[in-house]
Formats: sequence, structure tokens, C-alpha cells
Amino acid sequence: MSEFDLIKRYFTRPAPSAMLGVGDDAALLQVSDGKVLAVSTDMLVCDTHFFADADPFLLGHKTLAVNLSDMAAMGAVPRWATLALSLPDADEAWLEKFSAGFFAMADMHGVELVGGDTTRGPLNLSVTIMGEVEASLALRRNGAKVGDEIWVSGRLGDAALALAHLKGLIVLAGDEFSACASALHRPVPRVALGRALLGIATSAIDISDGLLADLGHILAASNVGAELDFGSLPVSVVMQNHFDGMIARQCLLAGGDDYELCFTAPVSRHTEVLTIGMKLTCIGRIVAGQGCIVRDEAGNNIVLESAGYDHFG
Ligand code: ADP
Ligand code: MG
Repeated sequence: MSEFDLIKRYFTRPAPSAMLGVGDDAALLQVSDGKVLAVSTDMLVCDTHFFADADPFLLGHKTLAVNLSDMAAMGAVPRWATLALSLPDADEAWLEKFSAGFFAMADMHGVELVGGDTTRGPLNLSVTIMGEVEASLALRRNGAKVGDEIWVSGRLGDAALALAHLKGLIVLAGDEFSACASALHRPVPRVALGRALLGIATSAIDISDGLLADLGHILAASNVGAELDFGSLPVSVVMQNHFDGMIARQCLLAGGDDYELCFTAPVSRHTEVLTIGMKLTCIGRIVAGQGCIVRDEAGNNIVLESAGYDHFG
């Protein structure tokens, strides 16, 4: 199969809201009146972000999901994506499933694939996502204020538990592993939440490198510190089962791949946040100073071996 047949067969779909989609030297896109373009790229590299034998449908899903998560964290409505693929060979069975997973996620969020690049090389999947947001309302990292509450969506650490199990660091029971594997392989981008937070949240980020690392970016950008209550962190039943171990604590505070949102909001908006209609948990508060302190139920500081994932750390 030629490069062009491959693109035509697996990655060319109608893109009715684009002025011009796949097939020319560039796509042409018109942003809605009064909105600005939010653009972000996220790359998944074989052996770094996934294993070579990963289910291609789920990989297609996740490749787009991690990018949608960045739109969610900005409060943007995702509209278009480009897909840069480096493939060891044109494996049709793999491409069929990968593109089906990718487009299933795209359809769920009304995202149109409008271009990309396809080359031979080590397996590498890179998406650039484009969305729209009201310029003055975009959720940035630098708006957290002393006194704001810190919130997270969903439950934290399950994806990292699944990874810890795969690495042989902990042992999960069969049903525990399937529950956590779903968090690892089928992350749910919180796009609707991001939109609901416009005008309420003072800052936001998606948790891809671990709660402490990602909250740390908000703290640095906003020039503030934080206090977290360890006991208030939202955890799954599986996490509760393994809660006493150091590895589980590490997964909860510093495990990557959750793709939940962490955001700050004034105390005065507390009840409004709770009416958004999904699981949202207040886990602490913004304080003057720098860095993040995590306190256990007895009020003691929790010290971790590692604060989060850093490719060059
Ligand atoms: P060029 O040589 O101008 O970069 P290409 O031959 O790389 O163009 O790509 C031809 C068309 O197919 C372009 O519109 C490009 O955006 C699109 N395209 C290439 N690879 C992909 C892909 N993996 N998914 C979607 N569109 C793609
Ligand atoms: Mg090209």
C-alpha cells in the first residue's frame, strides 16, 4: 500500500466544518466569531508511553483523548486535529483498528481530522489539536489566588496502579487490574467540565504527570503555594484496598496518566462547583508562599520519593 492509499483509506473522512480538510498542502479553518484558537500537541512514543503490543483501537482512542484533555484544561471546545504518524510498516489490521479507535473518540467530541503527516520509522503518534475558546475566559495556569480552593475531578491514581502492576511493583487481583487498566487505556477527557468551569475556575490543568507535578505547574505559574489534605483525595475501591502501601501513595500523588482536571476556584463558588454534575472533590487550598504540603489525617507532612514523571528528570 502506498503512503497516499494509506492516508486515503484510514485517515480521510469528511470534515464539514473545515473550509478545507485532508488532501491539500494545508487545511483551511475558520474560527467562530469572538473566539480564539487554542492549539496543543501531544505525542505518544512507543516504549515510553505505551508498549508495542498495545491494543491498536485503544491506542487510537488514547492518542486523541490525551489531546482532548488539554482542550478540557483550557476550557476550549475541541474542533479539529492533525495526526502525525511514524509507522514501522503499513500493517493494515493495525491501521484499521487504530483509526477506528481514533475516529470513535473524534466522533464523540465532534472533532474533525483535517491533516497530518505519515512517514516510516519507529512507532510514534503525534496529534495537534485545535479548539475554540472565549479569549478572556480561557482557563490558564496562572490565575490561582491565595484562599482559593483546590479541586480535582474523578478519582486519582488508578492508571498508575495498573502500570505499577504491569511493572511487577504491586500485585492487583484480576478484577482490580481490569478496573485500573480501564483508567490507563481509556482515559476520559473532561471536556464538558472544562467548559462548565469558564468564569468559575481561576486556574486549571489536566493531570497527565501526577497530581503534585501538575498542581506544581499551577503553583509556579500563579506564584502561590498549596496545602493538600491527603485524606480528602478521591480514590477508587482498588486504591482503598492498597492504600497503606508506599507504592499506592506514590500512585495517588505522583502517578501519571489520570487525565482528570485539577483546578482552583474561590471559596465563594464552592456550591456552584458542586452543582456542575460530576464527581468533583475539594482537596485543599491555595496559600501564600511556594510549593505544596500534603498532610495526613494526623496533620503530619507526607514525604514522597518522587513528585511526578519527568522525561529528563
Ligand atoms: P505534503 O507533502 O504537502 O506534506 P503529504 O503527502 O504529507 O503532504 O500529505 C497529503 C495530505 O494528507 C495532506 O493534506 C496531509 O495533511 C494529509 N495527511 C497525511 N498524513 C495524514 C494522517 N496520518 N492523517 C490525516 N491526514 C494526513
Ligand atoms: Mg507531509
